[in-house]
Amino acid sequence: MLFNSRLIVLASLIFVSVSAQVIAQEEFRVTLLGTGDPIPRIDRFGPATLVEVAGQELLFDVGRGVTQRLVQLDIALSALDAVFLTHFHSDHITGIPDLWMTGWIPPPFGRRSVPFEVWGPTGTEAMLKNMEQAFILNTNIRIPDELLPPEGIKTIAHEFSEDGVVYEKDGVQVTAFAVDHGELIKPSYGYRIDYKGRAVVISGDTKFDKNLIEAAKGADLVIHEVALATDELLASSEQFRRIVGHHTTPEEAGTVFAEINPKLAVYTHLVMLSSATIPEAPLDSLITRTRTNYQGPLVIGEDLMTFIVDDKVSIYKSGR
Ligand SMILES: [Zn+2]
Ligand SMILES: [Zn+2]
Repeated sequence: MLFNSRLIVLASLIFVSVSAQVIAQEEFRVTLLGTGDPIPRIDRFGPATLVEVAGQELLFDVGRGVTQRLVQLDIALSALDAVFLTHFHSDHITGIPDLWMTGWIPPPFGRRSVPFEVWGPTGTEAMLKNMEQAFILNTNIRIPDELLPPEGIKTIAHEFSEDGVVYEKDGVQVTAFAVDHGELIKPSYGYRIDYKGRAVVISGDTKFDKNLIEAAKGADLVIHEVALATDELLASSEQFRRIVGHHTTPEEAGTVFAEINPKLAVYTHLVMLSSATIPEAPLDSLITRTRTNYQGPLVIGEDLMTFIVDDKVSIYKSGR
């Protein structure tokens, strides 16, 4: 393992910047590829989380910029073994056409020769079939022109409609569980990834939900969404109140973390609302508000932040 000399201490946790690092077969590693929401920000790409375990590359949600983040990590787009979707809000799926088509073209990061496989709630198959149709002209040009394998641009959907194990391979188990993202936003799921007695939970988009707490029991690492807005902003517009009403407040997330008691809780999918006249709430208020209900290990996720799940959960600041 190669470390550079930069050590960053934050919230009593130690971060280490890491350069080129080979992943051990037994390692259980999680990297935040995008920690943002629908807002096109430079510092936080769309929601996407990469789980590397038992030699498998598993991607959870496909937000804007996922291809750039994978290339930053030197991971071929074609190297993904499975893609999982939490729900169909645009910020979680806009990266799919790019990942799917760019992972097929001839450069070394592409060259996928097997179908693009996606696990997700009911609706996944129709979306993928419609996507194939939307880009059929590209497909029909590239196959004869670049001699690309037709199999590589096919899609396969693995749909589910209830809680349970949705993926199992070489000791890795992925379980989907329904979460409450609001009355009109169904289906919506979170995921739990288990391997050799360790577990990682990804909340997906959700309000405070006891089902998530139940599904996350015993998890080592909990990666959770959150929404932060000032009282002034909420008072200014019904639309802002509706958006925040679909998500988890820092105080509620604190209750969730206190119930689960993980080795580390991480915020991702930061919904940071503002208007032309009312600025975002300060980022550190996310921590102070969470601390009203939870005193355990907690970090605000950043794009390319990596976690290695073992007896403890180690935090690496910038991927590899
Ligand atoms: Zn979202
Ligand atoms: Zn959503």
